[in-house]
Amino acid sequence: EGSETRVKRIVLKLSGEVLRCSKSGETIDGTILHDVCKQVKSVYDLGIEIGLVVGGGNIFRGLSGVEKRGVARTTGDYMGMMATVINGMALMDCLEKMEVPVRVLSAIEMNKVAEPYILRRATRHLEKKRVVIFVGGTGNPYFSTDTTAALRASEIGAEVILKATKVDGIYDKDPVKHPDAVKFDKISFAEALKLRLKVMDATAFALCQDNKMPILVFNMNQEGGIKQAVLGKKIGTLVS
Ligand code: UDP
Repeated sequence: EGSETRVKRIVLKLSGEVLRCSKSGETIDGTILHDVCKQVKSVYDLGIEIGLVVGGGNIFRGLSGVEKRGVARTTGDYMGMMATVINGMALMDCLEKMEVPVRVLSAIEMNKVAEPYILRRATRHLEKKRVVIFVGGTGNPYFSTDTTAALRASEIGAEVILKATKVDGIYDKDPVKHPDAVKFDKISFAEALKLRLKVMDATAFALCQDNKMPILVFNMNQEGGIKQAVLGKKIGTLVS
């Protein structure tokens, strides 16, 4: 089924918010975590090499540190990067329990909890069929984990970035506010830019465009969303 379009290596970008329970406000919800990992496993079981880039927004965002807590932007950003490590460790344990081999590679050295990020090490793990979780963002303030996904995907030679969100894809206007909003099945980088569509932040978007890295924006809450996406089923919006 759909094997002609099957990809070999992907980067899956999970925002931290994906792990948060909107009802209880729990930052890392056990049920959601389990469901996300089950979906990752179903893709892993297809033999697809997976690099997971995880965000930290459910725990801390640099900008909110500045606005609400008087923390300097750079300090807040490092706090945000540390938050991604926490999420990554949760994903690691949950995947391991499902017998998926996994390694956590951090852009910020943290020897007791993660391996340092080294490109060749990452690709070696992927070749050995280990899921690689990239944590610590890019290791630099003023960037985002979307940019991390764009960067790592280009570095490891992934064919596509799967950006898991809570919406079905990219619309011409906000579907929550406008019931007549139209969803794009696919769109070019140039067109998305012209229409000022928010796919990723500008840095991440530019990196993808420059390196011809396609981005598939899809709804992760949809049953089997990730698997459908890698099998090339009609889901989400492909930016390429
Ligand atoms: N961050 C950073 N540099 C990076 C990646 C992340 O400074 O390369 C910080 C930034 O403060 C960001 C926070 O980490 O707000 C959490 O990442 P992000 O907002 O991308 O997480 P997501 O929205 O995907 O959960």
